[in-house]
Amino acid sequence: MKKQYYVNGEWKSTTEYADLLSPHTKEVIAQIPQATHEEVEAAIDIAHETRKQMAALTAYERANILEHITQLFIENRKKAAEIISLEAAKPIKYALAEIDRTIETYKFAAEEAKRITGEMIPMDAAKNGANRFGYTIEQPIGVIGAITPFNFPQNLVAHKVGPAIAAGNTIVLKPASQTPLSALFLAELIDQTELPKGVFNVVTGSGKTVGDALVKSDKVKMITFTGSPAVGKGIRDSAGLKKLALELGSNSGLIIDKNVDLAQIVPKCVMGAFSNQGQICISLQRTYVMDEVYEEFLEQFSTLTNKLVIGHPDDESTEISAMIHPDEQERALSWVKEAVEQGSNIVSGGTIEKGIFLPTILTNVSATSKVSCQEVFAPIVLVNRISSIDEGIAAINDSDFGLQAGIFTNDILTAFKASKELEVGGVMINDIPTYRVDQMPYGGVKDSGTGKEGLKYTIHEMTETKLVVWNQQ
Ligand code: NAP
Repeated sequence: MKKQYYVNGEWKSTTEYADLLSPHTKEVIAQIPQATHEEVEAAIDIAHETRKQMAALTAYERANILEHITQLFIENRKKAAEIISLEAAKPIKYALAEIDRTIETYKFAAEEAKRITGEMIPMDAAKNGANRFGYTIEQPIGVIGAITPFNFPQNLVAHKVGPAIAAGNTIVLKPASQTPLSALFLAELIDQTELPKGVFNVVTGSGKTVGDALVKSDKVKMITFTGSPAVGKGIRDSAGLKKLALELGSNSGLIIDKNVDLAQIVPKCVMGAFSNQGQICISLQRTYVMDEVYEEFLEQFSTLTNKLVIGHPDDESTEISAMIHPDEQERALSWVKEAVEQGSNIVSGGTIEKGIFLPTILTNVSATSKVSCQEVFAPIVLVNRISSIDEGIAAINDSDFGLQAGIFTNDILTAFKASKELEVGGVMINDIPTYRVDQMPYGGVKDSGTGKEGLKYTIHEMTETKLVVWNQQ
């Protein structure tokens, strides 16, 4: 029950522990070490001392270690999924799907470890470049501080640990306080590999203490953070000149054109709006549907939503369970109330039943209601009517965020226009904004953050490009 954190290949105890509660049953499932500032600094020191040993590993060795991690996840698929389900109340079928993606993420990292290359520079193309021979190399940057959220406790950690190892860096990982068990399980797996001890470290505790120590340390050369915009902005203000990757939230939007096959689209929309209780950074939050198909879409969408199976996360048929914390459910409820006061209608859900916030569809939502203009991070989706594609594009762009957006259309020019005009990091044509595979470049604009994830892209951010010029005379 009492867990330890992991530094230099050793399991460590501390003085303070916090109870970890199951979001679903509210029972205590573990006691988690709350590391002190000094203990975090000690972990950073170890990662700093090990950085040269790690940088000396060959691409072949780094790829083999990542292959081994992949294999260990394949062997421990069920156990890893059960841990996610226990600590995050993620229905088990989605927790298994997360582990399948985690396996792919480490596999991609292993493959990318072998493809880290620089480029030749045509030095003699410049007037003063004669007889020079130039090229770039990508070098590891040293200690990476990784701070991760609760909603994908294994795969979003993999998006930081995989590329950090591929690039030859060392890591201190601070997982979300609600989901430390997945990170500690990863440490158990990594401990079985040839990765030198001290390269990968997990320190548990509060964002304020552990996160802050990582962000402010001079020995940490890059912070890779996935989490809320508010915390991301705070990190940016205190990180000084270190490299930063900030993967933040959004209020993702979707446009549905006329003349589309609703029967194909609606199940995807239900999935996009409600999977993981809407606690996904690219969850479908705002749907703008053309007049001609609006009523039919709403009818099909609410019918399918009302069929979602609500229950215990362990149950294989469950599709919706409790949100991460009762306070979060109360917040979601208050946002729905505000929307209704401002003129919205509730088509489905809008209440908490047996401790679970029900999947909620709202219509006629004002752009200034919180459920529209802020990140809702709950199983709530709005469906508003539009009379032109321009209106839909303008509505989606009327946002502080810009992670991904989607459009369903059969008109090639409309699709092309949307791809150019939507102010987001990724446009999904004939897909929901929630679509993601792990090797694609992924990251937002505006308050959705800076930097791209997707193994190749993260590796680039986790290395320094060094230029070498030879004078051949
Ligand atoms: P969060 O509250 O921002 O927490 C994220 C991490 O930051 C946790 O480990 C947290 O630790 C830590 N933290 C908190 N305060 C800190 C501080 N002052 N300094 C340094 N670290 C600190 O986010 P969350 O609720 O776990 O996750 C939900 C958010 O993540 C949503 O906004 C979602 O959109 C975003 N997200 C984005 C992506 C993406 O790829 N763009 C993917 C998934 C999620 P504690 O848990 O100890 O507070």
